[in-house]
Amino acid sequence: MKDYMFNEKIETLDRKKIEAIQLERLKNTVHRVYENVAYYRRKMKEMGVKPEDIKTLQDVRKLPFMEKEDLRKNYPFGLLAVPMEELVELHASSGTTGKPTTVVYTLNDIDVWGEVMARCLAMSGLSKKDIFQNPIPYGLFTGAFGFHYGARKIGALIVPSSGGESNRQITLMKDYGTTFMSGVISYGLHLAKVAMEMGIDPSKDLEVRAGLFGAETFTEGLRKKMNDLWDMDAHNVYGLSEMCGPGVSTDCDQHDGLHLWEDHFLVECVDPKTGEPIELEEKGELVISTLTKESMPILRYRTRDLAFLYDTKECECGRTHIKHSTIIGRTDDMIIVSGTNIFPSQIEEALMRHQESGVNYRIIVEKKGYLDTMTVEVESLKKLSNKEKTELIRHYTKEIKAITGYTPKVRIVDPGTIPRDGIKAKRVIDLRDTS
Ligand SMILES: [Zn+2]
Repeated sequence: MKDYMFNEKIETLDRKKIEAIQLERLKNTVHRVYENVAYYRRKMKEMGVKPEDIKTLQDVRKLPFMEKEDLRKNYPFGLLAVPMEELVELHASSGTTGKPTTVVYTLNDIDVWGEVMARCLAMSGLSKKDIFQNPIPYGLFTGAFGFHYGARKIGALIVPSSGGESNRQITLMKDYGTTFMSGVISYGLHLAKVAMEMGIDPSKDLEVRAGLFGAETFTEGLRKKMNDLWDMDAHNVYGLSEMCGPGVSTDCDQHDGLHLWEDHFLVECVDPKTGEPIELEEKGELVISTLTKESMPILRYRTRDLAFLYDTKECECGRTHIKHSTIIGRTDDMIIVSGTNIFPSQIEEALMRHQESGVNYRIIVEKKGYLDTMTVEVESLKKLSNKEKTELIRHYTKEIKAITGYTPKVRIVDPGTIPRDGIKAKRVIDLRDTS
């Protein structure tokens, strides 16, 4: 049975029609930014490209890339394509390095955001019959609001529980009979643990049966753990504040790739080093342009997220919008060990295949003589005997080799051994002299 679609007409639109809509909207966007945003006009002049040069979708490649740094340089309102008075909402990301980046919305931008999020939520099983708990902090971050606007369009009953106070989250779920939840998947796992401590088994004593989650890295292992603990069907949402926030794409009931809403976003996949386009099914960096954003249109944004694009054939679910793989890693956190590209997310995926360890691990890269070596240090859930450790090491070595193609050294350490900086462990320790 096909799952519920929020906007069936658009979600199943013929490819030719999708591309026609994209081209028209791309042309409009390019004209608008050329006329209204000094940054784009200057960049396009430097590259010798005029709005009229955009005649096909492939011509997008003639346009300049935009980097996070460009947003910072134009902080906070340097990229506006509409007068300030048209703006109705503002969000910002905390700047861990340097200034934060700010994004703004017109009324129509908020409407589009609600629309794409509604499609993602419906694809994950949300309907107007649901009681939808949103345990994400409501604030400057985009997350909570995107989910909120989407769920409101669907007509679900929204419980805006906001972030934190885990015991209270569980109590609300029990009292209101929450059926659908959102959040970051690691928080979902944490909530399950809190429920257990309260003597509540989420798979039996709570009504939550589906959820839509974001994450830095969303692995199949995390999904399975979430599904098992809650007896639910967990979906993955992708997005970034530069586009709208969450809502750019989500996986359908096939759980094989995320459908990206092509009537609002144009996606490319490029070689992160050269910026040149790469083949479908080949891993590269996602580059996304907004097609309908009024306030702050973004062209060719370098997301630094690595994934691959699927062939554009119709999916089993009936949707025609292109799919990309889950995010494999960030161009910033890739480790190159003896010529092999490795991402912390891949190590996490391998570790999740066995239940004897938590997800607390670190990767230590060193140089021994001329050779790089990688050691994966994993905390076990409880103290293990040497025999148990040896067995687990054998499993992990095999799994990591299968996923990354590299044979690491694995070390199992006792619970609580890996130092934490705040609540998070530092995942990668690179001891190679890179000078
Ligand atoms: Zn599908």
